[in-house]
Amino acid sequence: MTSEKQSILIIYTGGTIGMREDPKTKTLSPMKFELIQEEIPELHKLGFEIESVTFNPPIDSANMTPAIWIQLAKTIKTYYSQYDGFVILHGTDTMAYTASALSYMLENLDKPVIMTGSQLPIGVLRTDGKENIITAIQIAAAKKDGKAIVPEVCIYFSSHLFRGNRTTKEDSQQFSAFTSHHYPKLAIAGVDIKYNYEKINYPRSKGILSINTSIDDNVIVLKIFPGLNQKYFDAVLALPGLKGIILESYGSGNMPTFPWIFEAIRQSTRSGIVFMNVSQCPGGKVKMGYYETSRELQEAGVVSGKDITVEAAVTKLMFLLGQNLPVAEVKAYLIQNLSGEIEN
Ligand code: ASP
Repeated sequence: MTSEKQSILIIYTGGTIGMREDPKTKTLSPMKFELIQEEIPELHKLGFEIESVTFNPPIDSANMTPAIWIQLAKTIKTYYSQYDGFVILHGTDTMAYTASALSYMLENLDKPVIMTGSQLPIGVLRTDGKENIITAIQIAAAKKDGKAIVPEVCIYFSSHLFRGNRTTKEDSQQFSAFTSHHYPKLAIAGVDIKYNYEKINYPRSKGILSINTSIDDNVIVLKIFPGLNQKYFDAVLALPGLKGIILESYGSGNMPTFPWIFEAIRQSTRSGIVFMNVSQCPGGKVKMGYYETSRELQEAGVVSGKDITVEAAVTKLMFLLGQNLPVAEVKAYLIQNLSGEIEN
């Protein structure tokens, strides 16, 4: 880029923002990026160099896979030096998973990667997509003293900028689809965009972006509920090839103290399966040992997820298992803050 203008690359992966209704089946499916652009003539008024790449085919994010996360990381790496910031258009359903995965995979990130989408397609009169995409571009281009204001993987949605790996989709009906229970918003877009500078992560060692694309998907999430049947619990833990389990526990990390549960967990940890304890209570933090019902988990070798979201936990476990580290090291990294996903 030779021009003085800020340059932004839009990476279009799909999602409701770019969908339209099939007149026959009445179902929504993604359309081409050119058609999205036609719906937002305002993009030209921003005064930035805006270019785009489209994933082929654009998808409903319910079909998201680790292979596409890797494709995203590689795309950002390919174009990194050419643009000041990146905006990823993505479906809301799995946006928090992709944001979390990218936050681990993009190492030495010092440019904004802002994800957004919408609840109503861009061609619909009341769409929320226009404001989301325009403000996401402005945030991706925002600089202070020549440096990016938000050099993080973020989700911008409905006037709020969140750290991506702290975000959860909480609503499929309201325009404000996302929330962050454990970390403050990084910016609020009202008449002005007000940045929460103190809460933004600035890279200590600036370097050349590197991407780490090793992901191991031998991971499952197992939600605990009253009436959980021993037969099924045991069968899941015995799945061949399984390497990591997110236990979605109650409240502050509690599980029933039935001996068969602990026996099964102990046996699995001995065979090298990594267990991570994550609360199914959206605002809950795991405090292992706070109640008797979680103390035994600690003794069985289960690792605390602290205040992590399920989305950030699944992707962190996949990422760490992908590094081919000894189990003890995977566990040690799980309780460390890798890219702002948990409290220190
Ligand atoms: N199913 C859509 C998707 O995640 C929902 C959305 O974009 O809001 O792609």
